[in-house]
Amino acid sequence: MISIQGKGVSVGVAAGPLYFYQRAKSTIRRYTVEDREAEWQRFKDAQAQAIEQLGQLAEKAREEAGDEAAMLFETHQMMAEDLDYEEAIENLIKEEGQNAEAVVTDVAAQFAEMFASMDDSYMQARAADVKDVSGRIIGLLTGVVQGGINSPVPVILAADDLAPSETVQLDKSKILGFVTSGGSGSSHTAILARTMGIPAIIGVGDQLKPEYEGREVIADGGTGNVVVDPDEATRDHLMAKRAELLRRQELLNQLKGQPNVTKDGQTVRIYCNIGNPEDVYPVLDNDGGGIGLFRSEFLYLNCDDYPTEDYQFEAYKKVLSEMNGKEVVIRTLDIGADKMIEYFHLPKEENPALGNRALRICLNRPEIFRTQLRALYRASAYGHLSIMFPMVTSVWEVKEARKMCEQVQKELAEEGVPFSKDVDLGIMIETPAAAVISDRLAKVVDFFSIGTNDLTQYTLACDRQNNDLGRFFNAHHPAVLRLIKMVAENAHKEGIWCGICGELGADLDLTETFLSIGIDELSVSPRSVLPLRQKVRQTEVAACRDRLVDDLMSDQITI
Ligand code: PEP
Ligand code: MG
Repeated sequence: MISIQGKGVSVGVAAGPLYFYQRAKSTIRRYTVEDREAEWQRFKDAQAQAIEQLGQLAEKAREEAGDEAAMLFETHQMMAEDLDYEEAIENLIKEEGQNAEAVVTDVAAQFAEMFASMDDSYMQARAADVKDVSGRIIGLLTGVVQGGINSPVPVILAADDLAPSETVQLDKSKILGFVTSGGSGSSHTAILARTMGIPAIIGVGDQLKPEYEGREVIADGGTGNVVVDPDEATRDHLMAKRAELLRRQELLNQLKGQPNVTKDGQTVRIYCNIGNPEDVYPVLDNDGGGIGLFRSEFLYLNCDDYPTEDYQFEAYKKVLSEMNGKEVVIRTLDIGADKMIEYFHLPKEENPALGNRALRICLNRPEIFRTQLRALYRASAYGHLSIMFPMVTSVWEVKEARKMCEQVQKELAEEGVPFSKDVDLGIMIETPAAAVISDRLAKVVDFFSIGTNDLTQYTLACDRQNNDLGRFFNAHHPAVLRLIKMVAENAHKEGIWCGICGELGADLDLTETFLSIGIDELSVSPRSVLPLRQKVRQTEVAACRDRLVDDLMSDQITI
């Protein structure tokens, strides 16, 4: 038995075979083939398989996000069997005897270059499509499935860390848990695991060895312990723990339908964070009161090109309709830094976390922002929508964003397209600048939602992605907590609500603190709703208010 210690970032115990996440190899082997006909057939088989996979993806997309989403995959299907593309591949294999994966790589590059050099922007965008389709065929030819889990049974997924663009493509039904050598508690692998309600352990470093592939593993997301080839006693112990956790979950289930009210009558709204339209189901299952953060950038990460207005409209409409009148706060595009998207062609930056990201991109490239705002306002006719802007540092940014919202509403009204007139506009407080001027910002918005992941990163000058900084990244630091208190006070002075949607919102050690400073809403992963409700219902705010608020300000706290 081998025991590995990491940091547990999503509770639960998972048992199953270990599987290493496979990235497409960047180097393609080149060789001359003996049997050119057989090599051509090898290509044809991979092509047929790719077309079948794309058909399945189109069906899945149609069910989850409508016809527009399905069309993307259908276009890819057509591209995979395009006659010119096929002919170019056939010639190189049959006339020059090159191996299929090398030929597909070269032909993809030629076609992509040809598309990219065209004047028409629609045709230019096809460059990404031909690369994507070819990548799928190459994956099938080499056996390295891009970002895939090539296993017939569900697995515990091992990786160094996963980028957001990789997490969106995973077949979630195949994942029992995550174990990563890098990563951090607020990385997107951790966030995804918590949304899915499956165990995750990060930061195991080089203890995770490739030879463990396929071996039996039990991963405990509470203690951060991972055992490979467990002995019988360990297996019994961990499986008993798993059963106990499931029993506790059963008890928590009894809190469904109960109010989030403290013993002395203070209420707080418990909402959920989601990244994809289908995440709405765990929200409903766990009795979330609304959605406090829909990270809309995941829609963009899921596409190979700018998602159209209709594609986004369908996705937002689905969430709003499923939530059936409960509030849904959709955050506008928050890319840059750790969430890079190739087709945005953003210049490489020295300090991406401090660079062109989130609202800054939207204000600099209004055509992208306008498409998203149109989709949002159109969807507002189907439920209770609020819109939230990320990475704000100044009042003028909010004013400019609000102006764009007004323009979009005017356009839609002129076109006779229905939309709600009651969409609240709020901002994330995730920079120290926004916290410090929250008195001014509170005058121009309808609500605040504190993004403690970034607020901690920027306040402590500590990269949230860097696992080596673990003990320096202290979200309980009084500097962070004092800012949160100040923001809540400034919100309340202007009569607007203040929530927390960063990972700290689910930290039960701080629930009393948040209640005592009057936080109105906590937006957490769906699986955290019921434990948080239980904590709220056990709390008597009056009994802890003075102690906690004094603590925040006290010189006695170790910093
Ligand atoms: C945050 O920064 O706390 C937040 C909720 O946004 P994200 O984690 O997506 O950056
Ligand atoms: Mg953030």
